[in-house]
Amino acid sequence: PVRLRVAPSPTGDPHVGTAYMSLFNLAFARQQGGRFILRIEDTDRARFREDSEQQVFDTLRWLGLTWDEGPDVGGPCAPYRQSERLTTYRPYVERLLAEGHAYRCWCTPERLAEMRAEQQRLKQPTGYDRMCLGRTEEERRALPGFSEHPVVRMLVPDDVELGFEDLIRGHLTAPRPDDQVILKADGFPTYHLAVVVDDHEMGITHVVRGEEWISSTPKHVLLYRWLGLEPPAFAHMPLLRNENKSKISKRKNPEARLTWFEEEGYLPEALVNFLGLLAYPPAQDAEGNDVEVFSFADFVDRFDWREVNPVGPIFDLKKLDWLNGVHIRGLDLPDLTARLLPYLQRDGVLGADPSLGELARLEQVTALIQTRIAHLTEASDLVAPFYVADDAVEVAEDARAQLTDDAARVLDAAYAALEAVPDEHGGVLGSEATFRAPELEAALRAALVDGLGLKPRLAFGPVRTALSGRRVSPPLFESMEILGKASTLTRLATLRA
Ligand code: ATP
Ligand code: GLU
Repeated sequence: PVRLRVAPSPTGDPHVGTAYMSLFNLAFARQQGGRFILRIEDTDRARFREDSEQQVFDTLRWLGLTWDEGPDVGGPCAPYRQSERLTTYRPYVERLLAEGHAYRCWCTPERLAEMRAEQQRLKQPTGYDRMCLGRTEEERRALPGFSEHPVVRMLVPDDVELGFEDLIRGHLTAPRPDDQVILKADGFPTYHLAVVVDDHEMGITHVVRGEEWISSTPKHVLLYRWLGLEPPAFAHMPLLRNENKSKISKRKNPEARLTWFEEEGYLPEALVNFLGLLAYPPAQDAEGNDVEVFSFADFVDRFDWREVNPVGPIFDLKKLDWLNGVHIRGLDLPDLTARLLPYLQRDGVLGADPSLGELARLEQVTALIQTRIAHLTEASDLVAPFYVADDAVEVAEDARAQLTDDAARVLDAAYAALEAVPDEHGGVLGSEATFRAPELEAALRAALVDGLGLKPRLAFGPVRTALSGRRVSPPLFESMEILGKASTLTRLATLRA
């Protein structure tokens, strides 16, 4: 059975690329009935960030891209954090040294910098000049730029094979690598050694990662060969791009941070759908139209490496916004209500521990706004007026500016008309059996449009402002039904005064 992995480095907020790689790895693993592994590549101690690993767990779980083995869930190849595997790498390094495929290098960083500067000045190709090759520690010590803490380098032969097969791109070649460091002075392996050892030890059959690793793959193939190991299959995914073709990066694009999407009110299923459309052609329906809306399970069903487009896809947030709206409309009401709640609490619309009455009202309001929001974050503004005191509706600047001289007359007529609509249940929440949207609409139309001869927009604008304080609100008559008669009348009277 296949075994795939994603191997993020905990160097900050997880990159959206980590979710994108996870999706493609996981889709193939699930399709083949294999396993998906999460490995934390924390060998770069300088860039290590404490909270980053937990963010990787949280964001991937939020997306439903869950792993079968990993640092938090364990598994047969534990530990899954490279910093806890240092003793695993040792024997591999010893073997490479013993067999002459690697050598110790005592050059100080200063000496290496001088060497590079000199190479650049002479317009020579840059790369390690092998000063330490073939020298014992004592011999090297006698020369300038000696460090007590050596690194270990690969001895890359001149006639090295530089090609390999890629599942997406076919035969690839990369430039000849330098004598790559594989063990650092601090005793940690570099990425190149650790990735080969761990992919082998963890039984990885397919390495799926970003295209920026294409140039490293020949080094990895070389290490596999020297160590007598079978290399995995490789698939290098195209990097996500901006409209101008630059790669999206956390330094320039807020949306490169995976945590951004939840903050901005995207649904995880919309983001997964969106990532699945990047570099992958949509399915076709019976009439040959693109089917752009799909679930993870649909994606798994039709996944095929041969379909992946190697050209870097444009990360088009407008498409994501559209998909998010589609997925929001597809949720059932209790589900959408539950998903809105944390945003409403974050924005102070509801408290930490809302009452049953507040929650029942939220479901009613959610039904009104489900088709009107493209982000979960848009709900707060629309929902807030349903949770304020009737005499404390805050009237927005633009809504007040829109009130004409007519407003007082309109509010009086609306008040009178609505007061006349019976409300048998006295406005108890959820039980306004007769104070219902169709009756309210009929009453207000009769009073304002027919009675005062106003155009509907002018007639209902002041009423909307009285109830919500906004120019834009959920549908007016349904809103009045949810608020109930007493609240509706109080709000009309409050704006009138
Ligand atoms: P940058 O600011 O350039 O994004 P970074 O430090 O945030 O740098 P990296 O450490 O280079 O990001 O990459 C983290 C992970 O995200 C890697 O696995 C990499 O393959 C992936 N990645 C980075 N950029 C992209 C991209 N544009 N598209 C897809 N994956 C990406
Ligand atoms: N730690 C590497 C990264 O974050 C993993 C690359 C790979 O998958 O081999 O990109």
